[in-house]
Amino acid sequence: MEGLYKGMKLLIENWRSYISENEAVKCPPPTQDLDLNTKNRDRCRKEADYGPMNPLKPSLKYWQLAAGKWAGATPQEAMGQRCGNCVAFDVSPRMLECLPISTDQVDPMSMVDEQLKDKIINDFPGFPKEGAALGFGYCHMWKFKCHSARACNTWAGGGPVETDEQSIETQTGKKQDTEDDKNNEQ
Ligand code: SF4
Repeated sequence: MEGLYKGMKLLIENWRSYISENEAVKCPPPTQDLDLNTKNRDRCRKEADYGPMNPLKPSLKYWQLAAGKWAGATPQEAMGQRCGNCVAFDVSPRMLECLPISTDQVDPMSMVDEQLKDKIINDFPGFPKEGAALGFGYCHMWKFKCHSARACNTWAGGGPVETDEQSIETQTGKKQDTEDDKNNEQ
């Protein structure tokens, strides 16, 4: 009976600690601060060629430039490497709740962003037909709200981030226990 009591106590303590840790993971600051978001986006544009300006257009020069950064890559291959399938791109439920920020933005790229809402895959030339999220998400690498049909020179495969566990792990750098992990520990 005493063993059962200790086991229950441990379980409750672990659960409390899990809840308080996750409550501590707040929305990333740029999702709540338009100026910071824009500053980070502009830094990504300047340092890593975040683009193209309008992904609804073919933007062949942009994709040729992007392909030139990857030895042996073609523009068509570069077109397959979008934010939507980048490991840093987060479209988890928790992040989509964090994401909405003011749309009162007047710079050219933000105005194009307004046109990207509610578009479908076929509206974006060369966008991958499978494996990439479509729409806005959060870039953990450059820390701003980006659109899945754009890309940058620091793209890395393995995305997008789609679950809250992956999102918290990516944001904090700490591995989260999945339901499978928790079941295996019991
Ligand atoms: S790091 Fe990935 S998600 Fe972020 S801007 Fe570059 S391609 Fe997009």
